Amino acid sequence: MAEYTLKFRAYTSREGYGVLEEALALLRRLYNDSLAERKLAWEEESRSVSKAEQSEKLKYRRADDPRYGGMDRYLQTGVLDRLDKAYQAFFGRVKRGEKPGHPRYKAQPRFRTIELSTVTAYQLRVDGQKAYLAVKGLPPMEIRHKGRMPLPVPVEGAVTAPKVDKKTGETIREGGKPKKAWAEGTRPRAAKITLRGRRLFVSFSYRGPKLTLPPTGRAVGIDMGVNKRFATSDGFASPEKETRRSAEKDKEYQARLKKEQRRQAAMRERARAEGRAEWREVGPGKFRHYWLNAGPDGPRRYRESRAIAQNLMHRHAISKEQEIHRLTTEIVRRYDVIAVEKLKLKNMTRSAAGTAEEPGTGVSAKRGLNRSILEKNLGEFRRQLAYKAEWAGRQYGEVNPAFTSQTCNECGYQDSRNRRGEVFRCLSCGRVADADVNAARNILHRLLETLPGYDGSESLSPAAPRQVDMGLALPWQTPNAHAAKSSRAGRVPVPVLKNRGHTLPLL
Ligand SMILES: [Zn+2]
Repeated sequence: MAEYTLKFRAYTSREGYGVLEEALALLRRLYNDSLAERKLAWEEESRSVSKAEQSEKLKYRRADDPRYGGMDRYLQTGVLDRLDKAYQAFFGRVKRGEKPGHPRYKAQPRFRTIELSTVTAYQLRVDGQKAYLAVKGLPPMEIRHKGRMPLPVPVEGAVTAPKVDKKTGETIREGGKPKKAWAEGTRPRAAKITLRGRRLFVSFSYRGPKLTLPPTGRAVGIDMGVNKRFATSDGFASPEKETRRSAEKDKEYQARLKKEQRRQAAMRERARAEGRAEWREVGPGKFRHYWLNAGPDGPRRYRESRAIAQNLMHRHAISKEQEIHRLTTEIVRRYDVIAVEKLKLKNMTRSAAGTAEEPGTGVSAKRGLNRSILEKNLGEFRRQLAYKAEWAGRQYGEVNPAFTSQTCNECGYQDSRNRRGEVFRCLSCGRVADADVNAARNILHRLLETLPGYDGSESLSPAAPRQVDMGLALPWQTPNAHAAKSSRAGRVPVPVLKNRGHTLPLL
């Protein structure tokens, strides 16, 4: 059994977004109230409140407030699940002796996801291209899945029964249509609805038989440099053109974002100079600009600019995410064994932040590195590789990267002087290679060594041809237009990669 999630872009009406905001506000209040209840019970009575206990109490809230009562109950248990998860993680951290970090109250920007802990057959209708989700208390949503969502299949020889009114005996709906049912593991169990800026996403989680991809006989080691995105042991890497384009897009994004931020700063500056604005404390050590009156650059234009900036950030984040999905999907399709270096990302972040009393050394320099999009994405890259590999039945492993960049992959000679920037020149055997590719090969060998039957070679990795047939059909996958289009001669038929929708790491 494997668990996996499919995430899709969704749409609702203009009013629908307002309804969603209202639902988010109500559920957020439930979250914060439930958190307060747990905190209070602990502080005053040293008693911990269980999820079951809070779930039991839901009925009072539902009876008292029709806004809650009129909402699907599973939306509310979803909130309690989420709080419980936060608590479990907290207890785990306490147990391991880490810095605990008590679950916190959620402010509006930190509560953008609605969790539906159970999706019933009545709430979801799926056809070949779209799905429709109707949940009490939420607006109807249209989900564009473009053929990537499993469909219920006709049950052989079974037809639907007519629907009859019990009292009058009248037939409400004729029967006799072919009956459909979900194949094992293809019915979504839970859903998450997220508003990111002005964009709506719905993700469904499934639990089904583990899917395995046909073996390709190839293994790969991946070296993830900080300034280069990655290098693979066989020299196949992110096509340079794509990287360049992505870098250009990054630049453009940074420029546009900066422009808006400057605009906002100028508005604040001017308002302050004219005595129309001041900083007010909105929390311990937190300040927000407070506008005394609207004026020419008043809140409306200021808010507009902030909305533009926010939208830019969301769009950028989404396109980054998609890029990583494309990459990780391709790697998992291409290789049976995938080795990456273990990175202590968490520790790095912590040491940079330091503590209030004792700020970390070199804080500013390290913060620049940690906060860069790349750094954040390396973690995401690993996460995606790990779960997609698991999902596809591939071997994924993280190895200790110590000295992999200064050890010769050919003769094993280790010397920090072996590496000169981008070039690796072995001081012992004289081998010259790309420094990152050399490191990637070392990483691969470190993983292969731990596998049974390792004979010291990259036997799994013959010189990899660049074009690989990665076409693949899942038992429940409907053929779609993208697949047909992308199977042109010389192109790698990977339906998902062609899709312009949201993430969809479909294997
Ligand atoms: Zn050597």
